[in-house]
Amino acid sequence: MTIESIPDLPEYSEASLDNAFALLERDARSEAAAAHLRLENDPDAWENFRLGWLGRKQGRLNQISSKWLKSAPPEARKSLGMRFNAFKAVLEALFASASGSGPSDAALAAEAIDITLPGTRRLTGAEHPITRTLNEIVSVFAALGYSVGVGPEVETDYYNFESMNFPPGHPARDTQDTLVVANQDRRQPRDRLLLRTHTSPVQMRTMESQPPPVRIVIPGKVHRNDAADATHSPIFHQVEGLCVDTNVTFSDLKGTLDHAMKALFGSSVKTRFFPSFFPFTEPSADVQISCIFCGGKGCRKCKQSGWIELLGCGMVDPAVFAFAAEKQPAYDPKKISGFAFGMGVERIAMMKYGISEIGQFYAGDMRFLGQFA
Ligand SMILES: [Zn+2]
Repeated sequence: MTIESIPDLPEYSEASLDNAFALLERDARSEAAAAHLRLENDPDAWENFRLGWLGRKQGRLNQISSKWLKSAPPEARKSLGMRFNAFKAVLEALFASASGSGPSDAALAAEAIDITLPGTRRLTGAEHPITRTLNEIVSVFAALGYSVGVGPEVETDYYNFESMNFPPGHPARDTQDTLVVANQDRRQPRDRLLLRTHTSPVQMRTMESQPPPVRIVIPGKVHRNDAADATHSPIFHQVEGLCVDTNVTFSDLKGTLDHAMKALFGSSVKTRFFPSFFPFTEPSADVQISCIFCGGKGCRKCKQSGWIELLGCGMVDPAVFAFAAEKQPAYDPKKISGFAFGMGVERIAMMKYGISEIGQFYAGDMRFLGQFA
């Protein structure tokens, strides 16, 4: 055995050191096993094993020490030394088990486990704040007898726009606002695919699949071609609602949303309704709630007005019922009426939890998410 039989260390990374010592240990263990088999015919088998590895002059351990340890750069010496000592303990244990003296103290210490150390804790999962808020909103309406409707995120132009009474040429149809699927020139315009810009298409899909009465809430992800900033994200979540029956009035809409806002933000919250416009409702309204931060006195969050605008709503436009009646004649706008509403989940979660950057929801930062566990 000469010093040339010890290979050069390619480098001093943890992985290559592990690999180098694993190879040495493999050699030592196979030689120990061979020595054990030879012992019957060769009484010196174990002594030769000991000299080959642990001998003071020619032992390979000694050679490793002079070839690897002494030439190692200072920063690698600690990790090299630790592995060297562990390997030495393995060799001593192999030899000791053969000679019947049991493992040395050093060998025992090398494989000891401190059972008083705390174990590795696995973090339990928790609901994402968006999921939690979404479920809260849905449960408020579930308690009022609403069921949950779902639909595809990749929608046709018909369900996303046409059947929701967005006339051709409506600015919302512009690709400036809507993300459309490429290379669909051969399809009819109403069949062209896009990423839904609201969860409203599920209103139409639900009405087509069942006659009135309908009471559903529609939670889901929607997409707009918006630049991301502190309060906008190209992907966000909405909850929409739809109620259709005979004799549904605007009073029902006001009562329902007033109850829902009190259930979400506390019983002292007040609501008020302002005229607005949406293509699929007539009349339409924006709903404001009294500022939950200042109680209506006026603060920075409500721009001193005491009110915060939170959702849109209105009575379902008869034109929308006419589209539904193509498949379900019971949606005759002369016989039934209904209301619809929609709210942004991120906006409500930001208010409830005092979050000022919408991007926090999607960054996956455990320091942020851990606060909701
Ligand atoms: Zn305020």
